[in-house]
Amino acid sequence: IVEIRNVEKRFGNVTVLKDVSLTVRTGEVVVIAGRSGSGKSTLLRCIDHLETIEGGSIHACGENMGYRQDSGGKRTLLGDRRTARQRRNMGMVFQSFNLFPHLNVLRNITLSPIRIMGEDRKTAEAHAHELLAKVGLPEKADAYPSQLSGGQQQRVAIARALAMRPQVMLFDEPTSALDPEMISEVLDVMIDLSRQGMTMIVVTHEMGFARAAADRVLMMADGMIVEEAPPEEFFTNPQSEHTKLFLSKIL
Ligand code: ATP
Ligand code: MG
Repeated sequence: IVEIRNVEKRFGNVTVLKDVSLTVRTGEVVVIAGRSGSGKSTLLRCIDHLETIEGGSIHACGENMGYRQDSGGKRTLLGDRRTARQRRNMGMVFQSFNLFPHLNVLRNITLSPIRIMGEDRKTAEAHAHELLAKVGLPEKADAYPSQLSGGQQQRVAIARALAMRPQVMLFDEPTSALDPEMISEVLDVMIDLSRQGMTMIVVTHEMGFARAAADRVLMMADGMIVEEAPPEEFFTNPQSEHTKLFLSKIL
């Protein structure tokens, strides 16, 4: 469902993704780990075409993300509207929750389905209530973000992403801004989501989540994927020096 081929990404003359290839099949959960600056966020942003790429290609949900490629292989950037449409297939959850502070939880969740997808209010609200129940916050529809804890805000952010009925969910360190006691409430929601068959690409250092939900764990270093293995193997028999060092620090 996501096919990344030989992607290269540069910022100025610094190459931050080097020949990155990755295939994620429907229903798979892939965890990406790696030290700060290794390119994890950049890779997620490229998948959603929040960044342009200098080489390679990214296909997601049948779309060539951000580009049109002619028969000669020449790439042209797509327009904003087309790109926005492509992005709807994917839900993204960031480290900072980015809820609209002036809207209550229900309006935060229904805004895009109504405005962008043209859902009628009733359908959107019924779906929002369903999603709030799913993330364990059925009673918070009328609350404002400032009245919620960080963990609750992040669960609303997940519900908001799900409201667009995405085929793939991308998470960028969704728990790293949270106090320790709130981390598991968010991870539990994500584990649930994975059990329900959602395709997920998750940048996280929460290796408990990786063990519980991941089909594969990837290690990134210096803009490259240096290791890729099922969690059991990744933890018990790491091959790359980068992975060994990472695990020795984190476990
Ligand atoms: P972290 O764990 O700290 O979130 P990361 O693995 O997500 O790190 P990225 O944010 O993808 O790393 O950054 C990869 C490299 O690209 C870093 O060297 C960073 O400085 C650089 N970089 C990221 N965004 C930009 C930008 N907009 N302009 C220039 N350089 C950037
Ligand atoms: Mg990052």
